[in-house]
Amino acid sequence: MNELEKVALVTGGGRGIGRAISLELAKSGYYVIVNYSRSKEEAEKVVDEIKQAGGNATPFKAPVQDFEACKEMADYVLENFKRIDVLVNNAGITRDQLFVRMKEDDFDDVININLKGVYNCTKAFSKAMLKQKSGCIINMASVSGVVGNPGQSNYSASKAGVIGFTKSLARELGSRGIRVNAVAPGFIDTEMTEGFSEELKNEIVNETCLGRFGAPEEVAEAVGFLANSANYITGQVINVDGGMAM
Ligand code: NAP
Repeated sequence: MNELEKVALVTGGGRGIGRAISLELAKSGYYVIVNYSRSKEEAEKVVDEIKQAGGNATPFKAPVQDFEACKEMADYVLENFKRIDVLVNNAGITRDQLFVRMKEDDFDDVININLKGVYNCTKAFSKAMLKQKSGCIINMASVSGVVGNPGQSNYSASKAGVIGFTKSLARELGSRGIRVNAVAPGFIDTEMTEGFSEELKNEIVNETCLGRFGAPEEVAEAVGFLANSANYITGQVINVDGGMAM
C-alpha cells in the first residue's frame, strides 16, 4: 500500500452488492479490505479482479456477529494500514417467514448479523476514526426497514434498527469529522432475491416507478457517492429502490 492510499473495509464484500461496492471503491483509489464469513473463494476472486485492474485489496475473514473477530479484523487493518477511511457495513442475511411461523432462531440470527454486526464493526473501527478526526461509515439498510414487508418482521426490524443507529451515530460523531449514512436498496438482483417466484418478482417490479429490479452496481454507485463526494451529507438514508418507497 502506498502512503497516500485511503483504506476502505466492506463487510460481506465478496458477493452480491458487497462485491460491487468493493470494486467501486477500488476504482476510486481505495485499498479495499474485502471481509467475508463463508465465501472465501468469492472474496479472493474480487481481490484478484481488483488487482488485475491495477488496484489494491486483501480478503479478511470475520463473521460480523462475532465481536472478537471484528476486533481482530480492526486490529489487523490498523496495524497494517494505520488508518480506516471508509467502513461499509454491508453484510446481511434474510430468514423470511410469516410471523406466526417465525422461529426464535430466525429472529435472533437476522438481528445478530444485520444489526449487532453493524454495532460490532462500527465499535471496532470508530476509535481509530475518532483519533484521525475523519471517517465515513455507510450502513446497508433496506426499503423493508423503511416501509415494512410481510414475511420480513425480523429483517425489517434489523434494518429499521440500522437506520436509527445511523441517525444517532451521525449526531454523535459529526463534530469529530465522521459522517454516518445509510443506503436503503429496494429489490436488487443478487443471490438474496434469486429464489423469489416469478409472481413475486412481477409484483415487486409493478411497485417500482422504473419497472425493474436494481443492479448491485447501482447500489455501489450510491455508496461511492457517499464515500467520495458527499462531504456535507450525514445522518441520511438514501433509497436506491427505483422509486418504490416515497
Ligand atoms: P447476498 O448476495 O446474499 O450477499 C450477502 C453478503 O453478506 C455476502 O457477501 C455474505 O458473505 C455476507 N454475509 C452474510 N453473513 C455474514 C456474516 N455473518 N459475516 C460477514 N459477512 C456476512 O446479499 P446482497 O443482496 O448482496 O445483500 C447485501 C446487503 O444489502 C445486505 O445487508 C442486504 O440486507 C442488503 N439489501 C439487499 C437487497 C436485495 O434486494 N438484494 C435489498 C435491500 C437490502 P459470506 O457469503 O462470506 O457470508
